[in-house]
Parts: sequence; C-alpha cells; structure tokens
Amino acid sequence: MAEQKLVEAFITQVIANSDYTDLDRIYLRNQILSMVGDSAVSAVTSKRDLLDLKDELVQIAQANGNCKGDSAERAIIGADLMALLTPRPSVVNKRFWQTYQKSASKAINNFYELSKRCDYIKTRAIAKNSYFVTPSKYGKLEITINLAKPEKDPKKIAQAAKTQSTGYPLCQLCLENEGYEGRADYPARRNHRVIRFKLNDELWGFQYSPYAYFNEHCIFLSAKHEPMTIARSTFNNLLTIVDQFPGYFVGSNADLPIVGGSILSHEHYQGGKHRFPMDEAPITTKLQFAGFPTVKAGLVKWPMSVIRLRGIDKEALVSLAAKILTAWRTYSDETVNVRAVSAGEKHHTITPIARKEGSDYVLDLVLRDNQTSAAFPAGIFHPHPDVQHIKKENIGLIEVLGLAILPPRLVPEMNEVKKYLLGQPNAIKQIHLQWAQEIKERQPIQAANVNQILQDELGQVFARVLEDAGVFKQTPAGQAAFMRFVNEVGLA
Ligand SMILES: [Zn+2]
Repeated sequence: MAEQKLVEAFITQVIANSDYTDLDRIYLRNQILSMVGDSAVSAVTSKRDLLDLKDELVQIAQANGNCKGDSAERAIIGADLMALLTPRPSVVNKRFWQTYQKSASKAINNFYELSKRCDYIKTRAIAKNSYFVTPSKYGKLEITINLAKPEKDPKKIAQAAKTQSTGYPLCQLCLENEGYEGRADYPARRNHRVIRFKLNDELWGFQYSPYAYFNEHCIFLSAKHEPMTIARSTFNNLLTIVDQFPGYFVGSNADLPIVGGSILSHEHYQGGKHRFPMDEAPITTKLQFAGFPTVKAGLVKWPMSVIRLRGIDKEALVSLAAKILTAWRTYSDETVNVRAVSAGEKHHTITPIARKEGSDYVLDLVLRDNQTSAAFPAGIFHPHPDVQHIKKENIGLIEVLGLAILPPRLVPEMNEVKKYLLGQPNAIKQIHLQWAQEIKERQPIQAANVNQILQDELGQVFARVLEDAGVFKQTPAGQAAFMRFVNEVGLA
C-alpha cells in the first residue's frame, strides 16, 4: 500500500470518527506531536487501520523518550491518542439518552460501538482468547482461556477487600476512572466513558468491560465506593436493569470472599448480551412457594445449587428472593456440611442472575457457602485440590453460569500435556501429570484427535469444578437436602 504521512493518516481517522473537522487538522497535529514528539511529523506509514496507526505513534513516542518502554506507559500514550476521538463524558451521555428515548437498544449499541472504536474495549486482546464449547452431563459448557487479563489470587482479593485504599481513584470501578491518565500500577483510562443512570433512586454508571469474556460484557457500578452487598435491593436492582437495558442479562457476584468475584470493595453487577449454558438448564423439580402464587419456581439441573424464579410480577419475585436469602443466611444442615455460621463468621450468600424471557422475569438464585476446613483450606465449596491444576480461582458469577475463565498459563501447559499424550518429548508440569496419565489410559489418542480430547477433558474438569462449588450436590442425598431447605423457606 502507498505510504503516507503517519500523523496525517491518524488525523484523518480521528476526523472521520469524531466531531473534529478538517479545520482542526493543524490543532490535532500539534496535540499529537505534544504527546509523541515533533519528529513524528515526518514519519511515513503504509498502515491504514486506526489501531495500527496508533501503535506506530506509540513506537515513535518511545523512540523520542516521551514514554518509557514498559507496557503501562505505552498504554497511557495509546489511550491519550485514542481519547482524541472519544467525545467528552457529557456529550456521550447526552447522545445516549437522546437516542434512548427513541430506542434503548440503539442507544446501547451506539455506546458499545463507541467503546470499541476508541479502544476502551480491547478488541485485539480479546480476539487472542481461546474459546470452545464442550459437552457435559449438564449440557454444553463454555470454556475460554483468558490471554488478555492477568489472573488474581483469591487470598489477595480477600485482603484487598479488607484494606482501606488511600489512593485515587479508590478502585477500578469508581466513576473517578473516567479520563484518568493511569500509572505504572494502574490502567490508562483517558478514553474511558461511563453512562450515568438512575437505578431505583440511586446514581449508577454503565460501562463496558475492557477485557470482555462474552458478547457486550458490561458493568453496572454504583456511584458510591461501597462494598458489595447481596440484599433485597439487589434483586430489585437486577430486575430493574433488565427492563432498562433490553436484551441484556445482569447478575451480581456474591458478597463474601472465596465465593465472590475479584472486587468486593465496590458495589457492581455484570451483564451483557449472551445466553449461557445455565440459562438452558432445565427445571428438575417444580416448586410452589407459599404466598407467591404468581411465581413459578423450581430447582435447576445444574452442578451448582440453583433456585429459579419466573413470573411477570416483579415485586413478588423480589419479595420471594429476599425471603429465600434471609432463610439461607441462617440455614445449616450438618448432614451435608452446610453451616451458616462458624466461629462468629457468616458463610452464606447468593449469586443472583436476572434476565427477561418475553414478558417474564427470570431470577436464578445460586446458593453459596464459603466455609473452609482442614481438608479444604481454600474452601469446602470451591474447586478441590485435585482440580486446582486447572482452576484455583474463585468461582464467580460468569463461571456459575457455565462459562469457564481459565488462566493464560494453561496455553503453554496444555501444549506440553498434548505432547505427553502423544508420547512425544515434553516438559509436562507435575501438577498435570496424574490427570494426563488418567486421560491416556481412558482415551485412544492420536495426533488427529488430541486437541478435541484435551478440550473435552478440560470441560469435564470444569464440570467437576462447578460440582465442588455446589452446596447441595446432584445426588439423591444432596437433592433431598436441597428440598429440606426449600421446605424451610415455606412451600405451598
Ligand atoms: Zn470504587
């Protein structure tokens, strides 16, 4: 392709994707040169793609000493450049709500496209993630090996929840991230925008996740930096959001360590436009709760312990969910190791997920218990030691729904497992050896089927991970115990 001036090519793209016009060309050039250094003015390129042009400008900035070589500083200059085509927050919000009045879906879609275009959603990093679907006795499961985002240690997550941060912004979910430059230990957010909205009389923000795990993965966050809480208001908020954001599901991580998500210090939910394996899981036992004739309820055929509520009466669903939560917070059943409290510490909470099907609200309540024991120091209802070679992180909202987010280390590690299975020289890690031996004994492995076998085996491990996290197991004894709990809540 013909070469052209790099800065001018970038400016042309900025003008095409923003409110800037040709009259702004000189002004934009000077903005860009102030970021990357004056020598860029004579640089030429054969690239046309906006992000490729941005990358070349970042390289020049680095060569000019305008940014150090580390990834944090490169990301900061990159976000600064992309911010040139990201409208001011007030403009983004005004356009969103103007369009929303005519079509909520169009407003949401426009904001999604903007978040991608300005490189807030890291489409190129997301494209590197490995994704596949695998069968299990609970139906299909989804697996993604996340190569875009580093994994977090559950113990550090628990510590972070307890320590009061003194920095600015207080956390990565605070509204104060909007336009924040970033630093060595904090992501660049110059091109970050948040839609403000009223959620049951409180101010909330709506944004996308930069490292999406599924289609239109978004985050709803409280304007206040307050800890995650599961309460009656949570159920009301979730059912309100599925009305306000048509086509989106929304769920909350639980509010306790081990069974919660990675950020417990800031109230937030996750949503998006995706149908998960758990959504397809059928009801095994229909339930009718006393006092809630309009709510169709049931136990779900799923490795985790799910009570599904369905109906058009939002208030009834919220009240019943609150009643179930209250009952679960104090419910113990020694016969199945379920204890609400030990040594003064509360263990019980719920991971709730809401969606709409036609005019019905569907609210899935996933019961969680975060006890630890001498045998299971990481958690009794957490992936057990024999599957931690694949997954040792918390089983959060997204995994509960049947989408495994596996750590990046598994890509090189599975390559060695593959060589081991094929009898080739390999550097298989000790942690995978027993599992790999069992697979080899069970499966006729050839070069042609080794990838498929490995994917299916990862799916089997993920099913086990979810079974470990289930409080009432999918066994006759487990389901009988589940029925004792729902009876305690009060069946009709
Ligand atoms: Zn915060």
